[in-house]
Amino acid sequence: MPERFKAPRGTFDVLPEQEPVRLRIHSASRRALEAAGYGRIETPVFEDTDLFARGVGESTDIVQKQMFTFTDQGGRSLTLRPEATASICRAYLEHGMQKRAQPVKLWTDGPFFRHERPQAGRYRQFTQIDAEAIGSDSPLVDAEMITLASDILTELGVPGVRLLLGSLGTPATRSAYLDELRDYLRSHEAELSEEVRDRIDANPLRAFDADHEGTRKVMADAPRLFDRLDPEDGAHFEQVREHLDRNGVAYELDPTLVRGLDYYTRTVFEFDCERLGAQSGIGGGGRYDGLIEQLGGQPTPGCGWALGVDRVALALDQQREEGERAEPARDGVFVVAGDDQRANALALVTELRRGGVPADLDLAGRGTKGQMKQADRVGAQFALILSDDGGATLRDMTSGEEREVDPSRVAEEIRS
Ligand code: AMP
Repeated sequence: MPERFKAPRGTFDVLPEQEPVRLRIHSASRRALEAAGYGRIETPVFEDTDLFARGVGESTDIVQKQMFTFTDQGGRSLTLRPEATASICRAYLEHGMQKRAQPVKLWTDGPFFRHERPQAGRYRQFTQIDAEAIGSDSPLVDAEMITLASDILTELGVPGVRLLLGSLGTPATRSAYLDELRDYLRSHEAELSEEVRDRIDANPLRAFDADHEGTRKVMADAPRLFDRLDPEDGAHFEQVREHLDRNGVAYELDPTLVRGLDYYTRTVFEFDCERLGAQSGIGGGGRYDGLIEQLGGQPTPGCGWALGVDRVALALDQQREEGERAEPARDGVFVVAGDDQRANALALVTELRRGGVPADLDLAGRGTKGQMKQADRVGAQFALILSDDGGATLRDMTSGEEREVDPSRVAEEIRS
């Protein structure tokens, strides 16, 4: 027997019964973003490898270890997108969007790809909803975006959400700070984990993320970027916080917040859901005022975030399992027909569907009893039983109440 195929490692199928919660996440996000003036954009799922190498940053885990990169028939190096921001900035430049009214507000959703070690909540293909506002450095933008993400999570009812907020300052402050941090790490080299030691030059901030006991001790007294912000960045951050306070968005200041992407400047934030265990990050983002320039454009500020749809769905599913499972509402008509009436059943179902009434019929040659069972199983609100003499009975599947109806007037009957 040939071996059966399985979905590739780190990927999964979304089955129909898992779809409603995901649809709810997409609909709530779309509604909130479009009401706030964000226009939907779609970009390809693969791009030139260099876009991510330059945009996301050569020293990041994403670029060093996690990209699905391949060579096409023309010898070009392409990569399945690991995130959305670089692609959207590429599109902003490619389509001359700097000539539109600024900021340009865009959102997208879809699959993203990172070659990570799979575990619950961490996949090699995952789904994000992503929002970007390009062309304004106003702290109002940061606050608007964080508020939108927070409101979406609140509307969805995601339990136990925490918002962590920090600021990374501008590249100059950051670079001076990074030198200071490198010196500090070097002066404690012996106490650090090998991984952190190896990356003192490439990415010293990562030391704040380490689980290694010795490293954690060293980092407790490490200098923090937070205390080194120059006055302009400090004031920008103050204003972001004031706007969030005014919007009633609660946050915790996290002076060591490090995101796995190189392009962030000034504001950074992360949404955590404590119920999810190890993979608790359900969304995050920040400001990237240098990215557009890095991709070859004029200096242009930007800010964005991504929500992890799969993790939000996990959190909502968990909550549902812990609480009462509500009976789904019954809906539509199931047409029950004997052999002589099967052709009429399809014609009737088609007419109902065209009239906007959800309708279904037996496609497996079941007897009348089996069809009634199927009507119940699919959650129909009514069964319409066609009799051989051309008449029909409409049965309310909840109350069991039955009445004779004219088959040609079923749609009106149901609507009434
Ligand atoms: P990032 O693009 O790394 O800032 O991630 C934003 C959000 O996407 C995270 O908070 C996660 O919810 C989600 N995410 C990132 N990587 C993965 C992954 N490998 N599997 C599932 N969700 C992910």
